[in-house]
Amino acid sequence: MIRKEGALGFWLDWVEHNGGLWEDDGERAFAVLPETLAQDFELAEETAVTADPDVAREEGALLLITGHPLVTRAAESLLSAGDTGTVTLSPPRSVPPGAQLLLAKAREAFPVDHGRIDTRTDTPPLRALRRVLRVGALIGYEISTEEHFQEQAEVYLDLTTRLPLPQRTADRLAGTARDPGPAQEFDPSALEAALICAHQHIDKLATARRLILAAQSGNGLEQETARAREYYAAALDSLERRARTAPQDRRALLEARAQSTREEQARRLIEITEKFRARHEITPYRLHLLEVPVLRLEVDVSRGARRYPLTLEWLLPVGEFARLRCPTCTTDDPTLVATKTHLGCEHCVTTKAPPHGHGHQTRY
Ligand SMILES: [Zn+2]
Repeated sequence: MIRKEGALGFWLDWVEHNGGLWEDDGERAFAVLPETLAQDFELAEETAVTADPDVAREEGALLLITGHPLVTRAAESLLSAGDTGTVTLSPPRSVPPGAQLLLAKAREAFPVDHGRIDTRTDTPPLRALRRVLRVGALIGYEISTEEHFQEQAEVYLDLTTRLPLPQRTADRLAGTARDPGPAQEFDPSALEAALICAHQHIDKLATARRLILAAQSGNGLEQETARAREYYAAALDSLERRARTAPQDRRALLEARAQSTREEQARRLIEITEKFRARHEITPYRLHLLEVPVLRLEVDVSRGARRYPLTLEWLLPVGEFARLRCPTCTTDDPTLVATKTHLGCEHCVTTKAPPHGHGHQTRY
């Protein structure tokens, strides 16, 4: 399989985002470009690309490495497109699941300790729209002063829970047809907090990716530091040896030189650390507010005669429920627990043994 990372990975992602395709051919990838893109970039509509110089030479593929003008132009075109707007997705044409089937699926998706999910009323599940923010960003990684990478990152963030959608769910939404009708009125000030969450999520992904890239780039830092230490240790050793046997006036001079060598070593070690300090920079280029058609199911979580209301939403284009937060402590994807007083989750309801008790758990 081709290693889809660095400049090559970025470029292949970019081809896909522009309506192209690519096929993995082991050491090469065959990119199939839309006609206009191929013309713009003066490429054949089917172009073999690789990140391996030997493969490029022997098998006649285009060598796409960092700094290649095609990669730079792809990055520029992404940023200048500044792709923003509201996108309403179409519900699937198939008949949506009925109330009974949805209830069964809800019980399967959200098991409740000490309780059970029941429908609240006889009204059928209502059609509604759930909002999801899609944020795409270009990430520039600088692993050392000599190693730079560009990659794309994307996050789909649910506006209600501010939780990122699982990749599989995001992929399904990305492939869902758009509804050409007008978007609904929406107050954009509600986006701010979600945008911050989306940025934090992308930053977390980028940080994890940067650590991998830095590890793959080898221990250049350690090697260069070791070389510098060795060089200065030898220089200092020689100065000290000469100082021991030198006459008094010459000794002071040698000691002063040793001192300045130690200072120079400290400066050099800082320089080397700086050279290998990895960083990344996030440049957003896409912001879509997706309106996802859902079936809203109003349920009660019941424990005996007690009933706690809960709203669940079935994402129609994906065929699954939206993720939940605990209604009490906001933990993500909670295992719900119906207590005698409220609806919580394993995380907030579990009671610890009393400090002077006999180690048994309090009943809730
Ligand atoms: Zn909780």
